[in-house]
Amino acid sequence: MSQESKLDMLQFVEYSDDNFRVYKCPLCKTGTIKVHDSVFYGRCDSCLATLIDYKPLPHQVKFHESKAKFKLNIGGYGSG
Ligand SMILES: [Zn+2]
Repeated sequence: MSQESKLDMLQFVEYSDDNFRVYKCPLCKTGTIKVHDSVFYGRCDSCLATLIDYKPLPHQVKFHESKAKFKLNIGGYGSG
């Protein structure tokens, strides 16, 4: 299963008024995870699972799927 399809299974709840993306927790299915607009991660308020909600581009998926022992990503701000 690829990263993209896992992200597509995320249950988005709402954009809160205070700039959070709110999801239902895919792990415990009872808690909610709030990800602030300025970052790509948040924690479940019930089971403390950390969710990363950025959607990788195709070249980023290849990077994540690489089984290389060492991985190096070099670039200026925003080049990843
Ligand atoms: Zn949870």
